[in-house]
Amino acid sequence: MKILVLNAGSSSLKYQLFDMDTKDVLAKGLCERIGDGGTVTHKKGSEKYYEETNLTDHTVALSRVLELLCSKEYGVIASVEEIDAVGHRVAHGGEQLKKSSKITEAVIKYLETIVPINPLHGPPAIAGMKACIGLMPGVPQVAVFDTSFYSDIEDFRYIYPVPYEFYEEDRVRRYGFHGTSHRFVSTELAKTLGKDIKELKVITCHLGNGSSVTAVDGGVAIDTSMGFTPQEGIVMGTRSGSIDPTVVTYLMKTKGYIAQEMENILNKKSGLLGISGVSNDCRNIWEEAHAGNKRAELAMKMLANSIKKHIGAYTAELNGLDALVFTAGIGENDYEVRELACDGLSYLGIELDKEKNKNFKRGEKQKISKDGSKVEIWIIPTDEEYMIALDTEKIVNE
Ligand code: ADP
Repeated sequence: MKILVLNAGSSSLKYQLFDMDTKDVLAKGLCERIGDGGTVTHKKGSEKYYEETNLTDHTVALSRVLELLCSKEYGVIASVEEIDAVGHRVAHGGEQLKKSSKITEAVIKYLETIVPINPLHGPPAIAGMKACIGLMPGVPQVAVFDTSFYSDIEDFRYIYPVPYEFYEEDRVRRYGFHGTSHRFVSTELAKTLGKDIKELKVITCHLGNGSSVTAVDGGVAIDTSMGFTPQEGIVMGTRSGSIDPTVVTYLMKTKGYIAQEMENILNKKSGLLGISGVSNDCRNIWEEAHAGNKRAELAMKMLANSIKKHIGAYTAELNGLDALVFTAGIGENDYEVRELACDGLSYLGIELDKEKNKNFKRGEKQKISKDGSKVEIWIIPTDEEYMIALDTEKIVNE
């Protein structure tokens, strides 16, 4: 079975074509600047093709992707008919879409109703679905939601302590994000340990440009750091993570910022970038920190501490812990962040092997805790696209 996985952003469209029988990625790529010019980067194995073109909307972009996938020179299939199904990455499934679902008119209608709480990611995801329906009629389509892993979180953990009407009337609550990644790495961990996931208490740390920490009890997410939006939780590349909400209203009052400006500051100018004044990329910040830049050092200490606080809190909520998993750009690559985040947690049975952690092998699943550590610590590379392809295959075969 061949499955095309799509991830539509406001001006981008990422794609990967999987052969599910061999688990191979046949081709993948990225359309950018949709609606404002257009570029396509297409990869088939180690071969790379790049073009500047005119991508007026997501339908035009998808049409170009399908042409490339079928082209003599850069293609991997003879015709579009070889694609058996399409899996869409969808950030938000609201309260109703609690698991990966076949895309129907009703699903699209519901997604349209929740655009107000998902204004950035909702419209492009819907545009991607509509583009597929138009260009590949009859090919089954599945939506995989970043939020659905959190559908079992209990109300006392997802309701915010503000007047209850905001939940009832405005859908203000914790939704959680990155669920596909947290689900993938927790499942991979159980497979690797040869254990039933139902028996495991795990904390998964997805640390990338956006970062979140999730508590997984028996394969079910019971709490997560991101909330109503991906803004809440730990310190991120350019997002603040959790702060006292009064800081926001205070700055609006004293500096005269309007909501849009404040959102822009909290989303794009805060976090590691805002603290360090250097970059949102840990590699650059560490370089500066090692050269004596105190603000750069402070940013990395704050990141590590915010991860550590969540590990402590979630160990309490889980009433114990079997394994701690690091994944995504920072989690998989930044040994210093892992070391700082795990430092001083031996009371909880979390003991990192500093040598293994420092000499980790890039891109590989590996254990980095000391032999005898009560809690095992693992690096598990995430693969959200493959998880989406797996869900799609399962649903299409149901
Ligand atoms: P996204 O959330 O965009 O998917 P990624 O998971 O790719 O992000 O993570 C990107 C971040 O990972 C970068 O901004 C950088 O801080 C960090 N990163 C990537 N590679 C390394 C590395 N070798 N060492 C330290 N940090 C890294």
